[in-house]
Amino acid sequence: MDCLFCRIVEGSVPALKIMENDKFIAFLDINPRTEGHCLIIPKKHVSSFSDMSNEQTGDMFVFVKEVASRLAESLEAKGYNIFINNGKAAGQIISHFHVHIMPRYESEGIVIEAAFPVSEDAKQKLKETQQKLEEQPANKYTKEIISW
Ligand code: AMP
Ligand code: ZN
Repeated sequence: MDCLFCRIVEGSVPALKIMENDKFIAFLDINPRTEGHCLIIPKKHVSSFSDMSNEQTGDMFVFVKEVASRLAESLEAKGYNIFINNGKAAGQIISHFHVHIMPRYESEGIVIEAAFPVSEDAKQKLKETQQKLEEQPANKYTKEIISW
């Protein structure tokens, strides 16, 4: 399989690496939305978040935290967004699983935030979603998570 991020791992495609350990690499996004916008990838190819083992997921998020903290401190960011586009429908273009870290400086005009107040229609829709999830035995914790 020809995968751009696997090529970055093997070194045949250049990338501006900022941190690395035996399992993961952090490198700057070629099209940064803010200064320091970077991607974290597992060295071992996985397409989807759902295909990551629990151990890999835990290790990766410890690494994400280290990169995010270091980026924020070094670039004097006021905060950061961490996000994942998982699957084509969610905007995943490169099918090698990756986490975005986007340092924030308060002046970019990029809005990723909740809208309030929540409309009655939206609340009704949420209840329907909760009911759908409750029908799935795998989601036994949903009720506690989505309750108000
Ligand atoms: P996604 O939509 O989550 O799949 O995002 C893929 C990201 O990869 C985009 O933000 C691109 O700017 C970034 N990207 C694509 N090619 C490269 C590359 N060669 N080096 C670094 N970042 C890249
Ligand atoms: Zn890959």
